[in-house]
Amino acid sequence: MAHRVVLIPGDGIGPEVAAAARTVLDATGVSIDWDERTAGAAALETEGALLPDDTIDAIRDSRVAIKGPITTPVGEGFRSVNVALRQGLDLFAAVRPARTLPGVRTRHHGVDLVIVRENTEDLYRGIEFARGSSEAAALRSELRDLGGFEIPDDAGITLKPISVSGARRIVRFAFEYARANHRRKVTVGHKANVMRYSDGIFLAAAKEDAAAYPDVPWEDIHIDHLSAGLVRRPQDFDVLLLPNLYGDILSDLCAGLVGGLGLIPGANIGWEYAVFEPVHGSAPDIAGRGIANPIAMILSGAMMLRHLGELDAATEVERAVDLVLGGGLVRTADLGGDATTAQMADAIAGALGSRT
Ligand code: NAD
Repeated sequence: MAHRVVLIPGDGIGPEVAAAARTVLDATGVSIDWDERTAGAAALETEGALLPDDTIDAIRDSRVAIKGPITTPVGEGFRSVNVALRQGLDLFAAVRPARTLPGVRTRHHGVDLVIVRENTEDLYRGIEFARGSSEAAALRSELRDLGGFEIPDDAGITLKPISVSGARRIVRFAFEYARANHRRKVTVGHKANVMRYSDGIFLAAAKEDAAAYPDVPWEDIHIDHLSAGLVRRPQDFDVLLLPNLYGDILSDLCAGLVGGLGLIPGANIGWEYAVFEPVHGSAPDIAGRGIANPIAMILSGAMMLRHLGELDAATEVERAVDLVLGGGLVRTADLGGDATTAQMADAIAGALGSRT
């Protein structure tokens, strides 16, 4: 039976890399019934909403989606579609593997990291009060009464909630992931010495729940020190368990360690739904030129195949990516070559099932 999958091409380079991923996934022979939906700028134009209800309903129906990046207009009135999607479907865990790939020139070798990022809380929860608004004024006055906090009246305010329940489920997820995938250790990044009541909860949850996984070594480290450690010796780390904001920032740092944003796939996973997407954004600087690297999107597709139980096909896609990159002949501009997005996809599709 065919797997029904919602495909959201997205904005900017999204449609280009989505088409490339579809070429490769279809070439695996796995039967996928694609249900193409819109979100982002494209949806705003055609349906009058950045995240149309029928797109969300379609994902609720199929339970699995793969999406390209979506542009979030900067400024007032627009909430990130990505954040809304993750919160609306309660996709509480982001999984983002960053490993050294053959043939990609980087400063470090033998890097094999997996970021497990909490996806629904923290500063990305979306609780914000605009500078000068009556809500911000009321909050400032409440904070003055509650704790004598003086917030300048020209300040905008973003809140950082981290709950015990939210922290515990991502901790459990990360340790389960580490155990199931035979990872070496889990490193918890936080700043609990400064943000005692938000990051403090995250750390406490890790301490408490790690006890249920005596076979998985773990450590905790301040996020600033972790950043320095990753840049100096990324091989010392393995699974990185992070609250939302730090996870977002370190995802791009880890992408940089292994050759750039065009290479890093991702999965957003909840109890009921899963949405796969590359870590990179819509790259407006190169959109429409057919030169984006489709590998992050293709590897997101491999993660999706694994989630669908198509383990052999997933491994085959990853092997084909390694083969093409290792061959060094077909590379997009971000990797120093001149291949187009479509040429890269065709080369990877062509390498499926080949052994040389
Ligand atoms: P970006 O990831 O789009 O681009 C950063 C840099 O990396 C650019 O120079 C770009 O050309 C390059 N790059 C990214 N992906 C590439 C690829 N596949 N191949 C080759 N080069 C690639 O980040 P940004 O510029 O900060 O964000 C642009 C837009 O994307 C913003 O609107 C942002 O909100 C959105 N965004 C969306 C998502 C998502 O949908 N999940 C994630 C991040 C950013």
